[in-house]
Amino acid sequence: MSHSSEHKTPLSYPEKYKFISHVNEEHQDELAMFAEAFTDLAIEATTPVNIKEVFVEGVELTIPNEDLSTDQCRFVKFDQPILIAEDLKAQYIALMQKAAKKLGKKTIKLQNQEFTVKDSYLVTPNMLRLVVTAPPATPLSHPGYAYLFDLTSPASATEQLAAADTESTRKQCYYTLRRAWQHEEGQNSPDAQSNTSQHQGEISAWIDVYLHGDTPGGNWARSLQSGDKITSLRDYPEKIEHLSNGQCLLIADETSLPTVARLLEVWQNPIAPIVFAITNDAEDSKYLENLELQEAMRQMDIRQRAIIIPILNSPDMDLTAHISERLAEDPDLAALTIDRVWGALEAADAKALRKRLKAELGLTRQDMVLKVYWRRQ
Ligand SMILES: Cc1cc2nc3c(=O)[nH]c(=O)nc-3n(C[C@H](O)[C@H](O)[C@H](O)COP(=O)(O)OP(=O)(O)OC[C@H]3O[C@@H](n4cnc5c(N)ncnc54)[C@H](O)[C@@H]3O)c2cc1C
Repeated sequence: MSHSSEHKTPLSYPEKYKFISHVNEEHQDELAMFAEAFTDLAIEATTPVNIKEVFVEGVELTIPNEDLSTDQCRFVKFDQPILIAEDLKAQYIALMQKAAKKLGKKTIKLQNQEFTVKDSYLVTPNMLRLVVTAPPATPLSHPGYAYLFDLTSPASATEQLAAADTESTRKQCYYTLRRAWQHEEGQNSPDAQSNTSQHQGEISAWIDVYLHGDTPGGNWARSLQSGDKITSLRDYPEKIEHLSNGQCLLIADETSLPTVARLLEVWQNPIAPIVFAITNDAEDSKYLENLELQEAMRQMDIRQRAIIIPILNSPDMDLTAHISERLAEDPDLAALTIDRVWGALEAADAKALRKRLKAELGLTRQDMVLKVYWRRQ
């Protein structure tokens, strides 16, 4: 933190306005982390923290006082000044890493990792499973651990992308580790082809990609062959720590069902969750039937105890209204008090649902995590 007397030059790039509104809307948890880590102000679980202005040298945050009647401003300095528009994202991530380190929280890591594709097959009509060999330090038990994959890897993918290349063609895409496991001698692997001692110690993983037409991410996943080496550019640990106790509500579409499947497999919370599984094809809701429960979990069979509600999505469905009505009117759900929410959906749906559930459930920022996993174009 520094004082306002310091020299500050407002950033002149027009991209900054989009950046400010995006971060204020979608990344409240990170801004609260900045306020907590870098300022002298007390931050409550519900205190809204906003970026007021971005300067070459840092960001100015506004933080309301307790009764929300006045705002206080605090300046948080970047490690390096912004010289070109692209620096802004890197400097923001650097602040996030610094704040997380200070507060002992997990956050995004900028690192290149290499995976080798071993196999791929459909697990439901539109979910393609990539079986890969993963890097040695891959986390084995963090549901929602995602990687930003470079869609130009392997080299052959570059040609494919070039054929469709426009400035706006997506070249990177986040996908989640559906499950990762280390091969141990004498232990059965979920991937039947890898049960040989030559793989001992190696980490294998599943990455499940939702195929929805002719799109860069789906085309990339479909094109991958056994032996292809693919690269990720970032690691992103999803925020799921708040789900360890209380009545949880999980809301997922095809892009976040891999996280929910893994959450259910390693569920330790004594209270089973409510799950809304939203798919565009009823057959894809069977995705959650393929859970690989650990021995200890079989006893409290989460598949029977969790309330799993498939929702068949359609272009004219108002998802927010539908979920809200189900919560209020379904006799099994109306009797429950929801303490924690995790979900990840399309941007407009996530925004509308966040607003509605915040009002109806009265949860704090920490207890209600509703993420944007994709944007309708
Ligand atoms: C942290 C994180 C983890 C993720 N994990 C996974 C994962 O494990 N598996 C997975 O499949 N996805 C996952 N996603 C979502 C994935 O990154 C996006 O859906 C990505 O946009 C897909 O790229 P695309 O090339 O298929 O489509 P885009 O380039 O985003 O869009 C192309 C077209 O497809 C439409 N479109 C995009 N996504 C969808 C959709 N889901 N349903 C319907 N239409 C769509 C768009 O409106 C557009 O018209 C994750 C996202 C994040 C942020």
